Amino acid sequence: MTETHQSPIWHPFTQHGLGDPIPLIARAEGARLYDAQGNCWIDAISSWWVTTHGHAHPRIMAAIRAQTERLDQLIFAGWTHEPAEALAAELIRITPDPLTRVFFSDSGSTSVEVALKMALGYWFNIGEARSRILVMEHSYHGDTIGAMSVGARGVYNRAWQPLLFDVGTIPFPAEGREQDALDALEAACAAKETGHAPAAFIVEPLILGAGGMLIYPAWVLAEMRSICAAHGVLFIADEVMTGWGRTGTRFACDQAGVIPDILCLSKGLTGGAMPLAVTLCIEPVFAAHLSTDRAKTFYHSSSYTANPIACAAANANLDIWRDEPVQARIDALADAQAAHLAMLSTDARAQNPRRLGTIAALDVVQPDPGYLSTLAPRLIAFYRERGVLLRPLGNTIYVMPPYGITAGELAQVWAAIAASLDNLS
Ligand SMILES: *Cc1c(COP(=O)(O)O)cnc(C)c1O
Repeated sequence: MTETHQSPIWHPFTQHGLGDPIPLIARAEGARLYDAQGNCWIDAISSWWVTTHGHAHPRIMAAIRAQTERLDQLIFAGWTHEPAEALAAELIRITPDPLTRVFFSDSGSTSVEVALKMALGYWFNIGEARSRILVMEHSYHGDTIGAMSVGARGVYNRAWQPLLFDVGTIPFPAEGREQDALDALEAACAAKETGHAPAAFIVEPLILGAGGMLIYPAWVLAEMRSICAAHGVLFIADEVMTGWGRTGTRFACDQAGVIPDILCLSKGLTGGAMPLAVTLCIEPVFAAHLSTDRAKTFYHSSSYTANPIACAAANANLDIWRDEPVQARIDALADAQAAHLAMLSTDARAQNPRRLGTIAALDVVQPDPGYLSTLAPRLIAFYRERGVLLRPLGNTIYVMPPYGITAGELAQVWAAIAASLDNLS
């Protein structure tokens, strides 16, 4: 394992002061990461939730190579190219009919920023004073200032609190408290006071990822959608993590029969090979910006908006979804995850075993609170030494592998988890 202490790189979410080793990965294939010395790790979290089919999927790699022969990058303000046109058309085809427009950006956070700007732009342009954003407790929507503002506040963003804007927070619909959450959303949607009139509700459908893999039922999501519709509050589904099969269906909203007004997609959009994001919206949101008045233009762009190589990777991903038995792989992985989780169901150290589609999670019980603060880094090191890439969220261990992971590789991941429970005390 190569350590890169001399490197000038400042890594994300990494406390360099702790001196943890930073493996240097040379190549990847399927669910496996390799360093130059031939050491191997099983990527049990899909390289932070992005790799869907598996690393270096041949069709996606080929599409990227082919695109590099034609067009590398193009200004997207007022210009267009075939990979983006094909991708937008296919996204419109596979999503519900009311979603008619596709705006490109380059990460999950920017897709959320775009969604928020679209929502505010809509109300501004139609001349209605609505600007408050409603959010769900424990949510995560990204790390830019706007995305942090609509996410949970805590140690991860304490330094930037002065910059974060005020939002209305709806309680998480935990089991037995679903109605409280719905009542709170109803009240917040009905608010009329100046500064409190709601513009939009943004939500991670069915499962809160970074918040700790917290799952809530489809009927609650459907109810929330109806409440927003009844009050004209725009409903933003952040499917940056849940999209592309993670929850068992292509999109989590599908399980609830929910059609959002605005939909954010990124992570698995390119199968995890290239950075790309889209924000889809209903026609009225686009129409509110459509005018001969330049002041109503949607003023948002990133330099790499709809980069052609990234779009080619996304088109290959959509081809894979169309031509290969992706759903069957997802179903098989979901079953395998359920079986592994069931084996830990009587283990008192593994609490709240839960699963949604291909995502499995459990909470580690540890009576000593002092230990808890160092639990995640200790577990991460334990797994890394055993050839498994897992990254628990606090005391929540979760497995979210690429769909191409083999039964043997998945068994190795769960064996490492079982061993880690034995090593806790
Ligand atoms: C990861 C994530 C984001 C942010 O995406 P980035 O590409 O990391 O900016 C936003 N929303 C959700 C639900 C996510 O899981």
